[in-house]
Amino acid sequence: MPIEHETRDGALVWIRNPITGVISYVVDVRNKSFAFTLGLRDEPVEPAHLTDEQIRNATKSCPFCPGNEHLCTEELFRLTPDEFPEWTARDRRDGDRWVVRVFNNLFPRIPAELTGGRNESYIVVEDPRHFIDSPRSHGDLVSTSMLGERHFRHLLEADVRVMRRAGENRSVRAVVIRKNQGRESGASQPHPHQQIIGSPEPFPAVAAEARAERETPGLFEEIVTLMDRLGLMIENEGGVVSYASPIGAFPRSYDIIMPEHRGATLADLSADEMGRFAGALYRILRILGPLPLDYEIHQGEGVPLHAHVNARLFPYSNVAGTLNLPSTLLERTSQIRSAISRSGRR
Ligand SMILES: [Zn+2]
Ligand SMILES: [Zn+2]
Repeated sequence: MPIEHETRDGALVWIRNPITGVISYVVDVRNKSFAFTLGLRDEPVEPAHLTDEQIRNATKSCPFCPGNEHLCTEELFRLTPDEFPEWTARDRRDGDRWVVRVFNNLFPRIPAELTGGRNESYIVVEDPRHFIDSPRSHGDLVSTSMLGERHFRHLLEADVRVMRRAGENRSVRAVVIRKNQGRESGASQPHPHQQIIGSPEPFPAVAAEARAERETPGLFEEIVTLMDRLGLMIENEGGVVSYASPIGAFPRSYDIIMPEHRGATLADLSADEMGRFAGALYRILRILGPLPLDYEIHQGEGVPLHAHVNARLFPYSNVAGTLNLPSTLLERTSQIRSAISRSGRR
């Protein structure tokens, strides 16, 4: 069955997500007032710059900041500055003993008794830095976009180490990688980190995708072809495709997909393939910058390896299974395409 949608004069009017059934309608929101959503961010509740004391107070209690390692569960492994010649902060941060640190989440997402008595929820701290240089507010946090593409690739390689560890547990059948950036995305900790969760059964979102693909063989390829036809493709190179998704969970969503890698996990990729997947995902994150966002890497049985990225700052509402997409979607996608080709790949 083709993906249900309608175009008029070549422009998308509506499209139905073949997995969830949610219908996205394209609407012109340029003159709509977003006073409520955006106004909240303008309240001058904080001084022009955080004082040293405010920075100390905020980082003193942060379990992911250097010096607070004892606030976390036992470390599983770390990547040190020596292993990280490309670390963007290395000149300024003498004495850091780690760049990336991995340990179990103190609060398992899935109770340990369901995974053979072992906690299979992990935290990957992405960088020792909490705030950007000279932060003006508590929201001026280091974001993934500042890490650089090589650093991001090291992160995904660290994720693979965690996945291998989870894979040793016979009761783990699926692993998801999740990131929340910013308060509006639901992040509980401001310090940049990823979560990795091992589950005793396929995750429902991925299982639903696998079911849809079983019912409509070639569904993912069909989605990719349609995105290209609608002008929503961002990159398509070396077996990795990225596009602005009109059928995402949020009005501003992006997918990165390796259509040939069905049933594969990150751990199955060659070094080259890992570089290409990490690169394509990172370039979307770099464009979004410090905006609140989330991403999830979906992998395993019945689906091609892929990631969903959701930008979360914009007003969002799913009303009775409908979503509104801004009519500027095409224009923004072509801006993203040019921004990526301008800034090059490294
Ligand atoms: Zn911190
Ligand atoms: Zn998915």
